[in-house]
Amino acid sequence: MQLTKEELKGYFSDDIFAAISETAENLGLECYAVGGYVRDIFLKRPSKDIDVVVVGSGIAMAQALGKRLGRHAHVSVFKNFGTAQVKYHHIEIEFVGARRESYQRDSRKPIVENGTLEDDQNRRDFTINALAVCLNEDRFGELVDPFEGMDDMKNKIIRTPLDPDITFSDDPLRMMRGIRFATQLNFHIEEETFASIERNKERIEIISKERIADELNKILASPVPSIGFVLLDQCGLLELIFPEMAALQGVDSRNGRAHKDNFYHTLEVVDGIAKKTDNLWLRWATLLHDVGKPMSKRWEPKVGWTFHNHNFIGEKMVPNIFRKMKLPMNEKMKYVQKLVGLHMRPIVLSEEIVTDSAVRRLLFDAGDDIDDLMSLCEADITSKNEVRKQKFLENFQLVRQKLRDLEEKDRIRNFQPPISGEEIMEAFGLGPCQLVGTIKSTIKEAILDGVIPNEYEAAYNYMLEKAEKKGLKPIK
Ligand code: ATP
Repeated sequence: MQLTKEELKGYFSDDIFAAISETAENLGLECYAVGGYVRDIFLKRPSKDIDVVVVGSGIAMAQALGKRLGRHAHVSVFKNFGTAQVKYHHIEIEFVGARRESYQRDSRKPIVENGTLEDDQNRRDFTINALAVCLNEDRFGELVDPFEGMDDMKNKIIRTPLDPDITFSDDPLRMMRGIRFATQLNFHIEEETFASIERNKERIEIISKERIADELNKILASPVPSIGFVLLDQCGLLELIFPEMAALQGVDSRNGRAHKDNFYHTLEVVDGIAKKTDNLWLRWATLLHDVGKPMSKRWEPKVGWTFHNHNFIGEKMVPNIFRKMKLPMNEKMKYVQKLVGLHMRPIVLSEEIVTDSAVRRLLFDAGDDIDDLMSLCEADITSKNEVRKQKFLENFQLVRQKLRDLEEKDRIRNFQPPISGEEIMEAFGLGPCQLVGTIKSTIKEAILDGVIPNEYEAAYNYMLEKAEKKGLKPIK
């Protein structure tokens, strides 16, 4: 992790950095690479956009650099933000003037003044994000680390550069960012910093739902998402930003019978699915698969704790949760909703004899999402009893095999009933009426039950037969 000045220089070897040095010299300005780019060099993470702080005008620096680089450089100026971006071949660099920030209590928008490098590092959220590398010729590659960020990086610690109460109260989004970095990097949040998040948690109310959702998505997209959700819970933020998830916590016991803690169970399943897929929305479906459990919980003396219909209750809750959290209300939400609603089906199926008709119905209802649903359900088996767990997983293999066989045979996955409503109306000279719907669904049911194959002719004959029983005659 430790790099010599020479090694560090190697990360700034592109032509553009030499041009920055020369431009800075001409203008008599100090320039530093800062923030995520510098941090990620030491963490050996893939590098993203580069931020450069200029002690002076970032825009003037970018414009002068653009001139020096000539026609291959593209400069965009964002006057309102006081920033400018230079694109040169595959590299993008954002230039901003060093600033000092002061905050008012009701907003995370600071009053901004020109400042020194030190001012600029003071306004950063965490010590590991406050590292700067000088790009001026005489000090090229020199690391400026006023808060011992390198030590924190080595010890895997998230810590604020200033008094955490100031850092978090100024911009409460930083609380979420801290937990997000701890999750992404598998770092520990230093005690004082964490205690301050607990003290300042209520301040989260001034942060927009979109920004909170953005951080939650990053936590959920991390290799081990449970790290973040446990931290959010421990500091009390979870209750404020995602009460439905916090409500999954706790164990009730009666007559010596306890149910499992659904919060920790859910997190175990989420970590399981995270090992299998990067699909964020499958991760969301997993996070929410048991969200209906608190509402459906009952004590039934003969059986113990039950959560009947928790999947359907959860399915109903999904749009409200997405709307409230400003998550997308489009087909992604519908996908999550569908998987939450269906997640008990493969389990029930595998517990009983796996009939063709039940598998066909599952295929019909899940459509193209069947593989994702099966993955969710396999991750859902968290039994500590290895024998039981193996048995379930073997049954799932059976269900998967049967799904493949039937799909090959009957092509139910994207099943459209072979006879349309219009055809039924035409065949019997009917207008739109309930009878048409009834005949159509009778055909669909017959196919799903395997009474007739999923073919036009068989379906047409079946329709004639059923219609005749209802006293209908074809007009042709
Ligand atoms: P990621 O790209 O994964 O979100 P990052 O830290 O590289 O992480 P940015 O959000 O682009 O990404 O932030 C760049 C730098 O700006 C940070 O490293 C940090 O120094 C500073 N920064 C960003 N947001 C804040 C904030 N809310 N408060 C203080 N400093 C911040």
